Amino acid sequence: MITTSHSIHPIIRQDLTFYRVQAFEAYPGLTHAIFTRHGGVSHPPFASLNFGASVGDDPLAVSQNFDRACRALGLTPAETVTCYLKHSADVITVTRQNRQPVMGWADGLVAAEPGIFLTMRFGDCTPLLFFDPVRRAVGLAHAGWRGTMKQAAAATVRAMVQTLHCRPADIIAVIGPSIGPCCYEVGPDVMEAAQTSLDSTDGLFIRRNGRHDRAYFDMWEANRRQLIAAGVKTIIQSGLCTACRTDLFFSHRAEKGRTGRFGVIIGLRGEAE
Ligand SMILES: [Zn+2]
Repeated sequence: MITTSHSIHPIIRQDLTFYRVQAFEAYPGLTHAIFTRHGGVSHPPFASLNFGASVGDDPLAVSQNFDRACRALGLTPAETVTCYLKHSADVITVTRQNRQPVMGWADGLVAAEPGIFLTMRFGDCTPLLFFDPVRRAVGLAHAGWRGTMKQAAAATVRAMVQTLHCRPADIIAVIGPSIGPCCYEVGPDVMEAAQTSLDSTDGLFIRRNGRHDRAYFDMWEANRRQLIAAGVKTIIQSGLCTACRTDLFFSHRAEKGRTGRFGVIIGLRGEAE
């Protein structure tokens, strides 16, 4: 079991700052980035690389931001695929045949063909990136507390296994920047959902303020346990809390809902590309 901390690192390219996963660097053709909020054209409170089109930002700015992010990775927006997010555990397998710029409503996308670059938007919810170097398959999932309770992480692994013939033990999973146990204070709704949805809640809720009805939720650990239970052996924790690091990322919680969304992109280039 390799569970590493701080194994993503920032780079700057074409004025954009984005994070890359150390463990992904060894694989030619694997293209990925966890973008920060820096390098875009949006004005406050969306400054500046906002990917979110439904947060009140100027749609033209969002589209320019997306163009910039794609360009930094040597992609065009037409090569990307996304979905509308709904806090579910629904996962769509994207192929050359069924691909659409927006695949509909889901919280997980997986693909095993080159030229399909998956992208989603985040602002406290957990980005989960997946790569299977044996089957050459990628996945991307969005898990806030609701998605975590619905086991979106496990559902994405299952989709890679069932539709793309991956073995869980070959998959490298990354738990990306999201609100951490330092900042994610939750109430009875989240604690009660965890009791019924998760195998165990031991250690997932940290009481720090003496109140019985409030606790800090360790969403990173909840997702890590799900990935382990799903058979994933290599799990990389970014260890970056979006609410602590609003200098780097957008945080819905820390910025009281008036903020943007940062983007994640992952996909594979073809042999000839
Ligand atoms: Zn924090």
